[in-house]
Amino acid sequence: MTNRMSSVRIIGDPVLRKKSVPLVFPDNVQYINTLVKAMQNTLEVAEGLGLAAPQVGESVRLFIAVPNYLEELNGHVVFINPEIQPYGEMEKREEGCLSIPGIYEVLSRHSQVKVKARDILGNKFTLDVSGLAARLVLHEVDHLDGILFVDRLSPIKRKLLRGKIKRLKEDRSVY
Ligand SMILES: [Zn+2]
Repeated sequence: MTNRMSSVRIIGDPVLRKKSVPLVFPDNVQYINTLVKAMQNTLEVAEGLGLAAPQVGESVRLFIAVPNYLEELNGHVVFINPEIQPYGEMEKREEGCLSIPGIYEVLSRHSQVKVKARDILGNKFTLDVSGLAARLVLHEVDHLDGILFVDRLSPIKRKLLRGKIKRLKEDRSVY
């Protein structure tokens, strides 16, 4: 099971386009533990800031953040069944994605977001974050809805990236 969850799925993989389903407590606790362990290893190896379950092939509403990096996350690393409320001004920021290696683009998103989620034990928590932490949350929750950051780029930017993305889709064995 762990092997299955440890390679990062690349754009073109249909699992990245599925809408993920909520996790259930306490029924899914063992599965959640296995999944989180695998995802944390994967994130460490890939050196990313965050990773959503669909990126390792699991269509469930869970994402993780790299520990001890974004202070605003208040020590939270596992976000289960997150509900978000973006607000504030639009902010431009460069984004990348482990599922779209080599592509980094400036994208405009809300600068702040309120998050409600459960941690790995099923405890509910809320956060109100801005800056890079808000960006991470918005990016990862998009994954749970089958949305990739390149979908949010302008038609012109998307057109410019078409060749690169086509090559990634053809050769998904980057990792
Ligand atoms: Zn991503």
